[in-house]
Amino acid sequence: MLVELSRAYGSLLGELLEKIKHPPRRLYLRVNTLRTTRDQALSMLSEEGIHAHEDEEVEDAVFIEVKGPFNIECDTDKKIVVDDKTAISLLMGANLYRPGVRKWVVFREGERILAVTRNNIPVACIETTVSYYEVINREKGLVGINLCSPYKAPSIAETKTYKRGLIYPQSLPSIITTHALDPRPGELIVDMNASPGGKTSHVVQLSSAKARVIAIDRSESKVKTLKATLDWLGLNLNILALPMDSRYIHADLSLQNKADKILIDPPCSNLGVRPIIAFNRTMRDVIDLSNYQKQFLKAAYHILKPGGLLVYSTCTITMLENEENMFYAVNELGFNVVELDNPPPYADKISYRGITGYRFSPVSHDLPGYFIAVLSK
Ligand code: SAH
Repeated sequence: MLVELSRAYGSLLGELLEKIKHPPRRLYLRVNTLRTTRDQALSMLSEEGIHAHEDEEVEDAVFIEVKGPFNIECDTDKKIVVDDKTAISLLMGANLYRPGVRKWVVFREGERILAVTRNNIPVACIETTVSYYEVINREKGLVGINLCSPYKAPSIAETKTYKRGLIYPQSLPSIITTHALDPRPGELIVDMNASPGGKTSHVVQLSSAKARVIAIDRSESKVKTLKATLDWLGLNLNILALPMDSRYIHADLSLQNKADKILIDPPCSNLGVRPIIAFNRTMRDVIDLSNYQKQFLKAAYHILKPGGLLVYSTCTITMLENEENMFYAVNELGFNVVELDNPPPYADKISYRGITGYRFSPVSHDLPGYFIAVLSK
């Protein structure tokens, strides 16, 4: 798998691996501009004690500075093992909740425990707020508060601005992806991998809720999550959200040559997500994911209108999942690749076997690794 990354990064591989061990210094939020303005959101956050700043390039993006790195001081032998997703939020200063725990030790209320990953990497010092016996049979709830972590970012989810749906935590490249799609009123837009709804809700926002959106994810529960996001943001407008396998969308819905725009944001190896705490992806995974992603492109070709646009994005930096899939889309499926007049800010323009793509590289800017390409039919 490192071989695959070194194909993309060559002599910069060492620098890349060092960068992705750490979170970016900026934690981004998207402002829900259908419900507030960026200035208002900034002043509401500031009233809640959170100092956010405008992004210099992207009009609906704001960011908060992440503090650190600090040493974890805990003074205990007890360890609790958490899942990888929880490990990342603990690393950034979040409190520990019941669903994130993988392996328990017995503890009293008010005890200090070191939270570690499955590979025994310490991520935070936790002070328990309940005893082991109170929490072990529950499904939800707080286990302990974070006393000390390598990084600190304010807890956005506890603010009123967040609870009222005026801001949405989202990485900057992900925000930029929907800008590249440039959703317009009246367009029929299909989001083939929609849940939890970051980009779907942004499509609604940027089209002033006047695009007709079909948002798909593969299960009922994913679609429930998607609808919950849209409801919370007040952006569940003009959307048909469907649980289905979008690799067969052309066979299941009568959409041949109908979509003005399509978004494909498929499952990927996530190697651009920072910080990476464990490299547990194999080359086999990357190959399988790349083949899976191709199937969305194939289905999309059937439903895209001639002249329509497709934006493909991933939060990874392997060539198999990005550049080579775009090469496949052009050479095997018949898409054209589009060079944007306004290329995405902060991205490196990539040229590969006649394909143009835009790569967000942690080496060039302190952002997650990410890839965007625009295709037309
Ligand atoms: N675009 C989303 C994130 C998408 S993550 C956002 O911005 O918030 C990738 C999604 O693809 C996952 O929710 C996953 O459930 C979905 N997915 C995976 N296989 C799928 C399939 N065959 N059909 C539809 N959705 C699928």
